[in-house]
Amino acid sequence: MPIELSESEERIYQESLAYGRSSFLPWAAQWEVERKFPLDAFRKAGEDGYLGVGVSRDWGGKAYSFVESSLMYQAFARSCLPLGFAIACHNNMSYDLEHMQASPDVLELLPKFISGKEILAFALTEELAGSDPLSSSTFAREVPGGFLVQGKKTWVTNGQESSKVFLTVKTGDAQSREMICLLVDNPTPGLQVTKAHGKLGANLMSTVDMEFNDCFVPAGRVISLKGYANALWAVMIGRIHVAALAVGLCEEVLHVTAEFLAGRKQFNKTLLLNQGLQWKLADMTARLEAAKWLMLRTAFVMDQGRSPVQESSMAKLVCGDLAMEITSQCLGLFGARGYSDEYPIERYFREAKLLQIVDGTTEIQKLILGKHIAARYLND
Ligand SMILES: Cc1cc2nc3c(=O)[nH]c(=O)nc-3n(C[C@H](O)[C@H](O)[C@H](O)COP(=O)(O)OP(=O)(O)OC[C@H]3O[C@@H](n4cnc5c(N)ncnc54)[C@H](O)[C@@H]3O)c2cc1C
Repeated sequence: MPIELSESEERIYQESLAYGRSSFLPWAAQWEVERKFPLDAFRKAGEDGYLGVGVSRDWGGKAYSFVESSLMYQAFARSCLPLGFAIACHNNMSYDLEHMQASPDVLELLPKFISGKEILAFALTEELAGSDPLSSSTFAREVPGGFLVQGKKTWVTNGQESSKVFLTVKTGDAQSREMICLLVDNPTPGLQVTKAHGKLGANLMSTVDMEFNDCFVPAGRVISLKGYANALWAVMIGRIHVAALAVGLCEEVLHVTAEFLAGRKQFNKTLLLNQGLQWKLADMTARLEAAKWLMLRTAFVMDQGRSPVQESSMAKLVCGDLAMEITSQCLGLFGARGYSDEYPIERYFREAKLLQIVDGTTEIQKLILGKHIAARYLND
């Protein structure tokens, strides 16, 4: 594995950083206060080539590798993590549709996702099926020409703005692994958005509950018949990009903190000249560098055509926890200003918590890793 970024990878990071700085950062705080999804900025990102980046060129995508897309999200998180997350959800779904070899009716929609004319959401989680998606109960019954879906999904990112929902449904009994993935129109008869969640942070992106009451989905909208395996695969891909967003958030937080400490004096001395504070920054910077390379290696393994189950859990665990820790420590270094909504650090702190929850909590990453470790030492 190359242990340096190539010129083109470095360029993707720098261009994405500049794009986020000019198109997201000036409005990020305002969007969050208004709790309003920046639809124009999202669509513009499509026009400017930042949507559906992982989709092949055959469909008009950029065929980005996972290292490349991760660098893009890392850079976006430095300007607006929630919009970066909303874009990552949409982009991951676009990639999944192509790579799960969805039906032709589904595939021909890809150009609309790449342009941003249509927005995708992913609906896996249910009230009684969060960490354990196998216990989900939303059910699809086969009928002439398609399926009738019955059930409820919760915590659907992009749910409000989405025009298509990537939906996982059971086709067998409650405890079976028989699941399929369907692409459902939003709106469509039988589908209702029932609740928009108010959240600790990341309120500029929508997170909604959805109900399906005898909602008809045509047979041509099947994404995959290997629903459970593919749902886990989609979540694994999500973990790589959540780790990338976490790295970007940490970079930005360290940057604004160092700038703040360089500009403020106490005891007639610039704060950044205190060795104790320099050591804090040094410690966080070194740990961030290690976390970044763990994230990039995970993306690299994915690019090699292998399935980085353990790597993605490690990357999500380490980068998500580090984001929480760095935002918390740096908020403290701002003193009272860290607690004020006039500075961005309190918003970053609230956003960091999201990274420990989505696409499998910190505990679930430990569960996955722990099982792999135990399997190496236990014979039966
Ligand atoms: C802002 C936001 C956006 C989201 N977007 C989406 C989305 O787009 N699509 C989607 O499908 N889902 C989405 N989710 C849902 C998210 O993936 C789930 O919240 C997450 O997987 C955890 O499920 P849960 O909330 O039901 O927690 P639970 O599974 O109820 O867990 C509660 C606590 O128990 C712990 N726990 C559970 N089982 C174990 C165990 N065996 N051992 C040890 N600890 C355990 C968990 O770590 C957690 O701390 C989103 C969530 C949030 C907050």
